Amino acid sequence: MSNHISGDSKVVHIGFDDTDSTEGRCTTNLAFRTISKLSSETDSTFIDYPLLVRLNPNIPWKTRGNGAICLRIKTDQLSQIIEYLVKILRTESDMANGANPGLAIFDGDNIPLALRQFSKRAMYDVIKMEEAEKLASQLSIQLFKYGKGLGIIGAMASIGSLLEGDHTYEAIAYRKDEHHGSTRKIDKSKVSKLNIDTYPFTFNCFDSYHDRVLIAPHGPDPVFCGIRGEDPQTVVSALHYVMPVEKLEGYMVFRTNQGTNMHLQNELPLKEIRNHKAGYIRCKVTKKPIIIRGGHVMFEVSDISNKKYPVAVYEPTGLGNIASKLIEGDEIDIGIGVSMNNPHSSSILNVEYLSILKIAKEIVNINPPCSKCGKRMKSEGKNKGFQCKICGDKKGLKLSVTNPRDMQLGIYLPYLKAHRHLTKPIHRFGMEKTYPYMPNIIKPLHPDWFKLF
Ligand code: ATP
Repeated sequence: MSNHISGDSKVVHIGFDDTDSTEGRCTTNLAFRTISKLSSETDSTFIDYPLLVRLNPNIPWKTRGNGAICLRIKTDQLSQIIEYLVKILRTESDMANGANPGLAIFDGDNIPLALRQFSKRAMYDVIKMEEAEKLASQLSIQLFKYGKGLGIIGAMASIGSLLEGDHTYEAIAYRKDEHHGSTRKIDKSKVSKLNIDTYPFTFNCFDSYHDRVLIAPHGPDPVFCGIRGEDPQTVVSALHYVMPVEKLEGYMVFRTNQGTNMHLQNELPLKEIRNHKAGYIRCKVTKKPIIIRGGHVMFEVSDISNKKYPVAVYEPTGLGNIASKLIEGDEIDIGIGVSMNNPHSSSILNVEYLSILKIAKEIVNINPPCSKCGKRMKSEGKNKGFQCKICGDKKGLKLSVTNPRDMQLGIYLPYLKAHRHLTKPIHRFGMEKTYPYMPNIIKPLHPDWFKLF
């Protein structure tokens, strides 16, 4: 990578998205190949790690994890770089299988507020193409669209995401072309050991409860595996530790918003619920949970607007046990994704985390005990009072008692295997960090953040 910055070099922000399909390829791999080319053939200086920004996970037309890429560089060869990016996006995207690539280029030191707000919304709302195009034209962002060009939304959102607040890192290793599609051979015991040895500085490497490796995808895409953690040094060394026998193409460290709950930061009043939105809701349980076929738990909530919504806790999250103990009046916070409630054509709130804020008293009416012998009395029939079957003593009314509640205040998260990319693992609470954006002070990146084998 170049360390030399010539006098007339300027800060350029490159965003791209929607280059892959479920059949193969991967936008992070395109970033890896792009960086390989930019660093060997141009004067590019990277002013930040490549960003892997996960956007609203409820967008139905996403391929997998709704990830978009942003590269921030200093260069005086912008037109040459654009020419290369356009070529690689056109030739290396999987348009034959439904990819709709978009490329966004913005040059300037500072990211305009309107673009940052656009990115913030892309985390929890659905943005229309026209809105993205209008903003791009107002801010002089150059756009390049292929297919339907939907990728420009993610491309622009990634540029506007400075990730100045909480962030994590992922070292992603890529396979050589000849290995794509073959089974990934990973030493499970190494991953399990790594998970213990690097705690709490890595996350979601291994689900010890289900004895499952979480670092590798299963599809035909070029990713061999990815190690997520708190700093570049940890993720790079951890990656070296689990390096397979299979010869790899190389690896790259991304700075990301994975594991930060960034999509659940906005409070979503129930009156603003729309399909595909994300956020959190402070609400009261208004209908006791029922367990339906498949072990999913359904209940109903309302907030101060008095609007009511059905809530679903799906069985694979493992949150059904705690959710099924809720009763009317419990006060909770839920991180949610909104989806269509078929066949009712309304919305349903799908729980991503459950936080119990206030436990309601559960009052139940029981047959009174006999004051003489202490035995529970028997009912004499409707409105006829109660009688002790041993000594014949009588009482008129039921006794109200408070049932002990078998639950505790606190936050409950899904099983690791059910975490989304953005889900914040429990041990990361309190580990949040910052990364101020200072385009004119070049922070050195970790020397091994990019490796071609
Ligand atoms: P991968 O994670 O494997 O790279 P993906 O899951 O990111 O794939 P894409 O193929 O990139 O999926 O498709 C996501 C599409 O949704 C892109 O076209 C992107 O521009 C668009 N998109 C992302 N966020 C939003 C949003 N908030 N509103 C509208 N469209 C969005």
